[in-house]
Amino acid sequence: MPNYFRQPYGHGWALVGDAGYNKDPITAQGITNAFRDAERCAVALDEALGGARPFEAAMHDYQRARDEQVLAMYEFTCQLATLEPAPPEMQRLFGAIQGNQDAMDAFVRMNAGTDSPAEFFSPRNVGSIMAAAQVAL
Ligand SMILES: Cc1cc2nc3c(=O)[nH]c(=O)nc-3n(C[C@H](O)[C@H](O)[C@H](O)COP(=O)(O)OP(=O)(O)OC[C@H]3O[C@@H](n4cnc5c(N)ncnc54)[C@H](O)[C@@H]3O)c2cc1C
Repeated sequence: MPNYFRQPYGHGWALVGDAGYNKDPITAQGITNAFRDAERCAVALDEALGGARPFEAAMHDYQRARDEQVLAMYEFTCQLATLEPAPPEMQRLFGAIQGNQDAMDAFVRMNAGTDSPAEFFSPRNVGSIMAAAQVAL
């Protein structure tokens, strides 16, 4: 699948959903992302057309909010979509997650898009999962 980010606006046009940003469907979040884009884009256009803010400022914020929210999942998805075995450090993490109910729940939430991959894979969170696995041994 083509994976890309496009600038989602210009003079007289705007993009939402897959037209503006696309990633492999393996993490199954495109519909949610498309609805969220549509809402953010509509709010930005309402601000611009209603005179509350300049078009460029409102649409720039729409793009920035989109990119900030989806970038970590985009990177996780691109890695998952290779269908290659997980790298060794990821395999160690999976081993540590197994049997740790809180960590397993958090992993599922991250896969479902409820929690951010940036937060789940942060050194702080990974460190605490690895430490809990050491204690359990
Ligand atoms: C195999 C697969 C499985 C997926 N599984 C999931 C899943 O489980 N969960 C999930 O959330 N997402 C999933 N997705 C992603 C999801 O389908 C898309 O992210 C979502 O449909 C994007 O919505 P959209 O409105 O941006 O684009 P689209 O749904 O592609 O809608 C665009 C529409 O515009 C029409 N169109 C195109 N050009 C023109 C034109 N010139 N004039 C008029 N109409 C035009 C097209 O025919 C289409 O109907 C999957 C995608 C694929 C490919």
